[in-house]
This record gives sequence, structure tokens and C-alpha cells, in this order.
Amino acid sequence: MSAQGKPPVWLFDLDNTLHDTSHKIFSEINIGMTAAVMESLGVDEPTANTLRTKYWRRYGATMIGMVRHHGISAHEFLHRSHSFDVRPLIRAERGLAAKLNRLPGRKVLVTNAPLHYARAVLKHLRILRCFDSLWGVEEMRVHGHYRPKPSVALMRYILAHEGVSPRRAILVEDTLDNLRGARCAGMRTVHVFHPGTPFAHGKSGRPDFVDLRVNSVGHLLLQKRPVRGQ
Ligand SMILES: [Mg+2]
Repeated sequence: MSAQGKPPVWLFDLDNTLHDTSHKIFSEINIGMTAAVMESLGVDEPTANTLRTKYWRRYGATMIGMVRHHGISAHEFLHRSHSFDVRPLIRAERGLAAKLNRLPGRKVLVTNAPLHYARAVLKHLRILRCFDSLWGVEEMRVHGHYRPKPSVALMRYILAHEGVSPRRAILVEDTLDNLRGARCAGMRTVHVFHPGTPFAHGKSGRPDFVDLRVNSVGHLLLQKRPVRGQ
């Protein structure tokens, strides 16, 4: 519990935090993204691949580059790029709904993926009802600009919108850069280590912006006080 006696508010990432995307989904997303860039711009596959990677690195989401540089509709692009059926591809730890329900405090999903995809994954995992609100990449607009994770401005915007002080909020994530952003916004952080996360290899230590490192969401429940200062 926090100093005010209130339970924390948990902000959960989706991919490689609540389920295992490295199994098959990441490759499907990359194929879908490339196809969506090809279709939207009428370019060949190598050009589309280059643009996809370039925009993902520069903006944290390919869609943002497509909107900013080519005037493509975010909604249409996200539907094109994530049009595959995720259900047969989903792999996750068992009993996730029960585990999340045992964790005291409100839960909010914050993902750089599109909302319709996030909803489909949560529904299939039977954990959609565990979340009070969902933030997808199309919601991540701060002062008219797309600001996905790890934007500190985004984190502050979400907390303000959710009516939560940073001290009460905990981000649970596999991507270290996003955890660093959350810490800069004054939040506490839980790193869910996933070997399939880019740049995860060899990171066996705990950086100073990470309060707790776990290997699964279930591990959170094994902690009596999951994160110091609660
Ligand atoms: Mg992730």
C-alpha cells in the first residue's frame, strides 16, 4: 500500500509482458506492417521494409511515420497492418486472469500496439475485464502529436487522465527504455524479463530505474510487497 493507504495503480504493457509475442506474433506483425506500407504507398517490398524499420526506430511506431510523412490515416494503416487472426498465435502463462485479480489495485493497459489488436489478445487471454482502461498507440496523442512509449510526456498525460499520482503508479514492462521513461515521470517500475525482447540479451542485472525484476506476471504475486514504497 502507498503512503496514503491506497492500493497502487498498475500500468501493464501487452507484448512480451502479458503474452509471448516472440513465438509467432512479432513475425506476423512485421509481415503485416510491410504489406501495409506497400499497399498504402505503392512501393516494393525492400522499400517498404526499409521505411517500416526507419519509422519504428525514429518514432517508436511505424504508423507515426506513415501519418507524418505520407498523410496516411492512422486508423486505416493500423487495421491493414494488424489484420491477421491473433488467436491461434497467442501463448501466455497459465491462470493470468486469476493472477491479475489477486493483485490489489486498478489495472490499466498501455501498449504501443493498436487498440483492436490489444483487445483481441486480452479477450483471448480472458483478461479484458481485468483492465479498467486501455491505451493503444492511436490514443497516444499529446498536444496534437503522437507520443508513444517511452515518452515521459505521454506517461504524465496518462497519469493525469487516469487521475493517479506518479507515486501510486507502477509500470510493468519488458522494454527497458519504456521503464526508464516511466521512472522519469516519477513512477515505480517492474521489469518483466523476456528473452525475446529486443536488446534484452545479456541484461542480467537490474538498472537503477527498475524497482523489481521478474520473469513473469505470476512472480509479482510471490512478492509480499511487490514494489518498495508501497
Ligand atoms: Mg512489450
